[in-house]
Amino acid sequence: MKKVLILGSTGSIGVNSLNVIREHPDKFQVVGITTNSNIELLEQQINEFNPKIVAVKDVSQAKALKKRLNSSIEILSGEDGIINAALNSDYDILIGAMVGFSGLLPTIEAIKKGKRIALANKETLVVAGEIVTGLVAEFSAEIIPVDSEHSAIYQCLVGENLEEVEKIILTASGGPFLNKDKSFFENATVEEALNHPNWKMGNKITIDSATMMNKGLEVIEAHWLFGLPAEKIEVVVHPQSIIHSMVQFQDGSIKAQLGLPDMKLPIQYALSFPERLNNNFTRTNLPSIKTFTFFEPDFDKFECLSLAYQALRSGGNAPCILNAANEIAVEKFLLGKIKFSEISKIIYEALSKIEHQKSPSLDDIIECDKITRDFVTNSF
Ligand code: NDP
Ligand code: MG
Repeated sequence: MKKVLILGSTGSIGVNSLNVIREHPDKFQVVGITTNSNIELLEQQINEFNPKIVAVKDVSQAKALKKRLNSSIEILSGEDGIINAALNSDYDILIGAMVGFSGLLPTIEAIKKGKRIALANKETLVVAGEIVTGLVAEFSAEIIPVDSEHSAIYQCLVGENLEEVEKIILTASGGPFLNKDKSFFENATVEEALNHPNWKMGNKITIDSATMMNKGLEVIEAHWLFGLPAEKIEVVVHPQSIIHSMVQFQDGSIKAQLGLPDMKLPIQYALSFPERLNNNFTRTNLPSIKTFTFFEPDFDKFECLSLAYQALRSGGNAPCILNAANEIAVEKFLLGKIKFSEISKIIYEALSKIEHQKSPSLDDIIECDKITRDFVTNSF
């Protein structure tokens, strides 16, 4: 029986993680769950899974939850509460399902305890990939990716030698604006941008899919997970989202992993690896899909994808600046304060104006995230 702590249990990945665990009550036990503020859903999850520890980032909501619950469960609160859940509770696997930079510090605590991290929170690797992978090696921790593309690559690499990889091919759905002209971005609405054709996800990653920043963040994530340079990480648009990604080897052979667009499978794989567990998830019916298509991405239209490649090539704190500027720009777009077309422009400005650092420490990364957020908040 593996003990599981889920950071961000009330989100899209968090809820899917609980769906997976519900299928395997003999294999996994939920020992802790956390939320930002959604205590209604958290309370339902507490009643069903009976965790030992819960943490709520929003302090007033944590107080409200304490009043509602008449039990001995430990309720932590604030950012420190979430970090403490990762630091002080007893678990085997941490599911990193928080969104954005907020996932970084609690994930680092789990790494320092030498745990397995089932990592959905790609931003952790984007902002501090060098530090995080260094700590994974130092503390003999393990990151198994949950992001479907990276799970696919991980599965394709089992039994292979990384030195024989010619390139990895990340597939991209292209998002809701794949077939729109760039001029459409001027007036694209929040509702249109949130209308993803294949995946149902949290709002931030859904907007990232519409700008294709999500794929850019995934290129950086792949760089740190698989140790390959930008030149060996290629993006191919595959609108059906059935081939989750591919690896091409030096003999020209390509391996792919296929499945329905459903995060339960990569979540389960990250929990059970190297075992594969039987389940009742819907199977892929290839005749009903009929056609697979592939295109090169339009880097001129999807400027965020180009900016992410540039940030990866610049290295140092550039991906941290890219990420923080993107987080604030997406927040502003969701609030109706900026146009969709302004997201990439804001990120470009942040990357040009904020000082580049070659080898930032963790404190430098925390500072850079803050400076970038302040810059974007105050300048646009
Ligand atoms: P959601 O927005 O649906 O959920 C995020 C979770 O984190 C919620 O539980 C939320 O609480 C909590 N949370 C948000 N901000 C904070 C904070 N500052 N401090 C503490 N907790 C916080 O996101 P997703 O599940 O869609 O995505 C999670 C991560 O997984 C992201 O990094 C995303 O890129 C990645 N990912 C997601 C995929 C998907 O299919 N959804 C696919 C691949 C990767 P509350 O409910 O109160 O807001
Ligand atoms: Mg993905």
